[in-house]
This record gives sequence, structure tokens and C-alpha cells, in this order.
Amino acid sequence: MLIVQKYGGTSVGDLDRIQNVANRVAKTVQEGHQVVVVVSAMSGETNKLIAYAEHYTSTPARDEVDMLLSSGERVTAALLSIALNAMGYKALSMSGRAAGIVTDAVHTKARIEHIDPSGMRSAIDEGKIVVIAGFQGVNESGRVTTLGRGGSDLSAVAVAGALQADLCEIYTDVDGVYTTDPRIEPKAKKIDRISYDEMLELASLGAKVLQNRSVELAKKLNVNLVTRSSFSDAEGTLITKEENIMEQPLVSGIALDKNQARISMRGVADRPGIASDIFGALASANVNVDMIIQTVGQDGTTNLGFTVPKTELGDAKAVTDRFIEKNDISAAECDDSICKVSIVGVGMKSHTGVAAKAFKTMASENINIMMISTSEIKISMVIQEKYAELAVRSLHGAYRLDQ
Ligand code: ASP
Ligand code: MG
Repeated sequence: MLIVQKYGGTSVGDLDRIQNVANRVAKTVQEGHQVVVVVSAMSGETNKLIAYAEHYTSTPARDEVDMLLSSGERVTAALLSIALNAMGYKALSMSGRAAGIVTDAVHTKARIEHIDPSGMRSAIDEGKIVVIAGFQGVNESGRVTTLGRGGSDLSAVAVAGALQADLCEIYTDVDGVYTTDPRIEPKAKKIDRISYDEMLELASLGAKVLQNRSVELAKKLNVNLVTRSSFSDAEGTLITKEENIMEQPLVSGIALDKNQARISMRGVADRPGIASDIFGALASANVNVDMIIQTVGQDGTTNLGFTVPKTELGDAKAVTDRFIEKNDISAAECDDSICKVSIVGVGMKSHTGVAAKAFKTMASENINIMMISTSEIKISMVIQEKYAELAVRSLHGAYRLDQ
């Protein structure tokens, strides 16, 4: 198999850890695989370099910042290659440029446009272990770019796609994706296989493990993604196409989002175009509206509620205040002591009663549901924040995720 392995900052945090990574890579080669490694900067390194740049100005030129930051990953790539060579393996390190990674020109937040894998390919064909500096590429005019914080995961997925690798393993300090946050429910279980879409919906569980951008790219490029720990031999979680998952559980996981707030508008003018006006204004103010609920109109007015990220509550309130001034709304109340609990699973596409069970579980705990929204693979409920952990644990048990 051709395997791309990506090691994050903690996994390459010091020289001993880089040796540990070299041993892992060597072991994979011993098992008969071809290996391409993508590395992050040693932990803390990127922050240190940013602080260096900001020593001179709070607004350092972005292309120079890229030149600077890209060096962090190059240090790790070279050191890992040196360690592998010292062990008797043939390794070759490459910058983003040498690996053929071409991006747009948006410095510090570049997007990969295409990859010319020929350089990597010929090194692999010569039997070499290719070690790539993650997080970087070059733009059309040859200037170094970086992909945004945490961007090495993206490098790995993109490289795996370009090389049509069999597997892209992302090594971190956690051993996979869990059915829910183990700090909330110690009975949470590691998930063996999960579909791209479920993983994206479970973002709050996977956020520390994988960036959503990487999962989206993996889905697009059809890359089999594995997240696992570089500190243990435990098998990680495979994120793959739905068809590759034989036994689909009804529910895969319970996600919790505490970063939500709610605005309830009363006395909203019940006329065509009002939703378009209000939500259009919110969009122009860059407010990300998530759930929306509207009650049946009465006497020419209706009630409308919606949720936004807590950090955008102030901006959202400013918008609703404008509508109050115009008499389109009589009142708007904010509530930032809410949270969103979601049940995610592809199995619910083909089964009934999944939502009913969620509501019954909340009822048995006496938890009031303020809002509900559903999609093909997700049921979300807004409840009071103080019940967040209780709700997660009860739902986790109700769908037998601890079995
Ligand atoms: N070193 C970069 C960062 O800290 C990229 C990465 O680690 O993925 O954001
Ligand atoms: Mg990282």
C-alpha cells in the first residue's frame, strides 16, 4: 500500500519524539508499504515565529510571514529525513515547492490549486521515503504561501489525493474519534469507522482531532482518512465513504455545541418578505444563523426565533434592534445560556423512531426542548445549557453507544 502519514506538532515536539516518528515510519516500511510523510512544525514553533515577526510590527507583510512560518515545517521535515537516513533508510525531504504544491496567492490563508506529484512520484519509485514539509506551497509567481493555522492536515490529504494513496493517516495525541466527548461521558467509545458526512456533523467531537476543511477535502478527493495516536499502537478511526461501512449503526455519536445563543423575536410583522428582510440583514452583518423556528401567525404578527454563535450575538442584536425601530418587530430577547445537542448517524436515513427516542429521553430527564431541527443524518435540539452534560449522557445511553 501507499500510505501518507501526517504527524502533528505534539508528535514531533522534540528530538526524541521525531525519533519516535522515524521508528514508526520505519516500521511501516518494514511491513512492506511505501510511505510519504507530511510533518507539522514542532509544537509551539509556529507561535514563536509569529511572535518574532510581531516584535517589529503588528502588521508584518503577509508574504514575509509565509516565508518565515514555512521554515518551521521544513526544520521538522529535514530532521526526520536525517533521522531516517541515520537508521539506514533512504529518505528525502521536500518543501511544499519541491512536492509540487501550487496554491493561490492569498498569503497566510492560501488554498491549494493543484499538485504536480511527479517529483514525489519519482522519489517513491526510487524506493525513497518522501518527507514533506506540511502547511505550505508556492503561488504561480513562485512565492512561498501557507495554508492557514493547522494547515498540515490539508497538505496531507491533498498529497494523498494527488498520489492516489491507499490511506492517509493523521497522527495526533488522541487515538481517534469518540461517540461523544469522553470528558462528559467516560463510557464514550472510540468509533472504528465513520462516514465523511457524519464526521462533518460531529465537528465538535472531531475539532481537536481533524479540521473540517481536511474532512471536506478528503471527501472530495475520495481519500480514506485515519486519525490515530502517535503515542500508542491503538487503531484509530477510519473516515471513509458511506458504502465502505458495512455495519451502519443507527446513531454514530452525540455532539454538543455550547457556543450557541438564541434570539427570540415577538410581534414580527406577518407579511411576505419579512424573513428575507431579517435574515438578509443578518447575512449582510456576517452573522451565521443556524436554527430557525417560526410559530403560526396570529392577528397579523408571528414569533420567530433563531440561533447564532455566542460571539455573534451582539451583531445579531444590533440587526434585530433596527427592525424594532422600524416597528417590524415588537421585541427581541437574547439568551446565551443555551446549547445545542445533536444526534448524528447515517442509519437514521432508513429507520424511524430515532427522533422520537431523543424527545422521549429529554422528557424522562425533564429537560425542555426549545428548538428542534433535523436533517437526513442529524437531529439537533436546543436546550438550557445547564442540562448539556446530562442530555449528552442520557442520549448516549439511550442509543446504546456505550455497548
Ligand atoms: N504549524 C502550523 C500551525 O501550527 C500548521 C500545522 O501544524 O498544521 O498552524
Ligand atoms: Mg496541527
